[in-house]
Amino acid sequence: NSLGPTICVGEILVEIVATTVGDGFRQAQPLVGPYPSGAPAIFIDQCGRIGGSAAMIGAVGDDDFGRVNLDRLIRDGVDVSAIAVDATLPTGSAFVRYRADGSRDFVYNIATSAAARFGWTPAVAGLAARAGHLHVMGSALSMPNAWGVIEQAAQLIKVRGGSISLDPNLRKELRYDEATEAQFARLVAMSDLLLPSGEELERAAGVTGEAAAVARLFEMGVTEIVLKRGDEGATCFQRDGSRIDAAAFVVDEVDPTGAGDCFGGAYLACRRLGMPVEQALGYGCAAGARNVTRRGPMEGAGTRAELDDFIRTTKRRA
Ligand code: ATP
Ligand code: MG
Repeated sequence: NSLGPTICVGEILVEIVATTVGDGFRQAQPLVGPYPSGAPAIFIDQCGRIGGSAAMIGAVGDDDFGRVNLDRLIRDGVDVSAIAVDATLPTGSAFVRYRADGSRDFVYNIATSAAARFGWTPAVAGLAARAGHLHVMGSALSMPNAWGVIEQAAQLIKVRGGSISLDPNLRKELRYDEATEAQFARLVAMSDLLLPSGEELERAAGVTGEAAAVARLFEMGVTEIVLKRGDEGATCFQRDGSRIDAAAFVVDEVDPTGAGDCFGGAYLACRRLGMPVEQALGYGCAAGARNVTRRGPMEGAGTRAELDDFIRTTKRRA
């Protein structure tokens, strides 16, 4: 879009996935990876891959886990000039194993990795000064440096007439202190577009009930809310009162990680490319659904042609 690229700030990780279902990592077991990952990285990768102008702010280590991420982002058209390569700490990582009930055990190394070592550098300032949109993942707030970068980038973008989106992406494994809760509330108030799933809608609004939460968020200044509903699709609410529902595609879910991030990256890119809500919802649902058919958090991110093909060949739920 003419105002400048969509930028996303936050954790860049590799993910290493257990190939069997069960409880955690307390026995030696088969694992597969490293896959490029981190919710903000997945989002921006799908955004770039579908043809949106996209750039990432974050940090990796000077190691192969870092190169796995940089190579993928570059391949998919993402500007990596504001990703720092840390000389001392290793790239962040997440080991994940699915339990029989679909829940996940994680072993994270984020706070003590390169993932958390980004800041307001000249490269970041230069990028933020020419960006048109900032997307924030709530998960990024778990890193102490994130808020300073997000706040400064948001100010620059708002002054230029750009826009801001937020995926609350709250993880029960990541506990938020009072200061982080306050930052989250400020982010909600700053956002034009909100991309919650499940109970995040009510949590962002601070009130219970879907309709009440939507109304409250519009009062707070949000203009568009897209509620992600997993295999039940998604709904867009707009401030003018309109509501558009999109049915999910019928797929075999192999690995649910990254669905919400791919949905968001595709939806936002399409909206910024000027598409109407209905069409953007179609690409968002296709991107989320396609991604869950592949093992690895961003392995199923699609190009526009791949998603068109997916849409043409995949049934939607009634
Ligand atoms: P995440 O776990 O990545 O944070 P999320 O909770 O933010 O995910 P979801 O609602 O799970 O987001 O997924 C986003 C979108 O992807 C959904 O709105 C839907 O269109 C699509 N999607 C996700 N899972 C499935 C599935 N099993 N079948 C079909 N479509 C799916
Ligand atoms: Mg999510």
